[in-house]
Amino acid sequence: MKQRLAILGSTGSIGTQTLNIVARYADMFEVRTLVAGTQWELLARQAIEFDADTVVIADESKYELLSEALRDYPIKVFTGAEAINQVVGSSEIDVVVNALVGYAGLHPTIAAIRAGKKLALANKESLVVAGELVMRLSQEHNVPIVPIDSEHSAIFQCLVGEQSPLSRLILTCSGGALRDVPREALAEVTPEQALCHPQWSMGRKITIDSATLVNKGFEVIEAHWLFGVEAERISVVIHPQSIIHSMVEFEDGAVKAQLGSADMRIPISYALLFPHRAAIKSEPFDFVKHSPLTFSEVDNAKYPALGIAFECLRRGGNASCVMNGANEVAVAAFLAGECRLTDIPLAIEYALQRARYVEHSTLEQYDATDAEARALAKEYLAGVKR
Ligand code: NDP
Repeated sequence: MKQRLAILGSTGSIGTQTLNIVARYADMFEVRTLVAGTQWELLARQAIEFDADTVVIADESKYELLSEALRDYPIKVFTGAEAINQVVGSSEIDVVVNALVGYAGLHPTIAAIRAGKKLALANKESLVVAGELVMRLSQEHNVPIVPIDSEHSAIFQCLVGEQSPLSRLILTCSGGALRDVPREALAEVTPEQALCHPQWSMGRKITIDSATLVNKGFEVIEAHWLFGVEAERISVVIHPQSIIHSMVEFEDGAVKAQLGSADMRIPISYALLFPHRAAIKSEPFDFVKHSPLTFSEVDNAKYPALGIAFECLRRGGNASCVMNGANEVAVAAFLAGECRLTDIPLAIEYALQRARYVEHSTLEQYDATDAEARALAKEYLAGVKR
């Protein structure tokens, strides 16, 4: 039987690559629901091409345009954030691919879990802001969460078949667009420079997060929740070639790594087809061409955000939610030319020092923390406006 999919964020980098896999494996998947933020024309084209049953456009101002574009098709059209939570619960959906970006992904993640849907998760922010709640609900509802993030997919693949406890997770890190830029020059980096990722072509927000290493910090938090490993047993190592996607060390000293080219279709298809694999690759991987593989330590002074993320994980409660909310506001400001790249970790610190700490949050409390963190980051940024 075909897996019936809801793809949230279908117009984005992960979303379009997911549709690419679906097109290739049309006998295995059926697209029921597509969700986008603002790109109504692309969403309409996707809905027609993949014969979707339902579409949601979050931006309400695009609803009329989308409805008009789909007028001659039997496709249900909805709009608004709440509609996303409604549609993922449909009995016609087996798997929810959450490829939304940012805090906007959290409520749909919870709605999907509560409705008992298998979750293929790209939206790492769901676990960063509310990992405790998300993991508890996934256990209560017996819902598998399969990671799409390449590092976590690598770890997931390394753990298949293992019965013994692991001793350490090692996340690899390309170093992002600015890895060769000296620390003193970071304050003058432009959005264009920071958006030029050496290995991966991704959405704008995650590309900036990669440049500041906020993304790697978020991945540490994500790994903690997905694999139940505490901060002290998670390491990060710079690996500029992005060939090793992450590693697991076991108690006997063995280290397993997952390697290959930087192609997000591999983790996406693995999340959808697990325990099977897609036949994507045609050329054999050329180790000689890709040598040498090198490793180095993270420069913590250059990348304070990684240490902040570790500290949030140790602090627990709503700390990572504060970090995420402040980061989203600061990244948007940086992209709009309103602050420096180096203001991003400073805005996060400012919010973390002032936000109210909550040990165990409900979904509503996470919403309140997110709003507070955003307001605090804006307060900080108002003082540094360029
Ligand atoms: P993109 O910015 O490319 O895509 C984001 C998608 O979410 C778009 O379809 C966008 O719609 C939609 N969207 C944005 N805001 C909202 C909203 N408020 N409501 C509904 N839809 C919204 O991001 P990526 O695909 O790069 O990343 C998606 C997630 O996957 C992120 O959490 C990221 O960290 C994670 N990830 C991404 C990787 C990658 O290679 N890209 C790798 C690993 C993880 P529209 O464009 O129409 O506005």
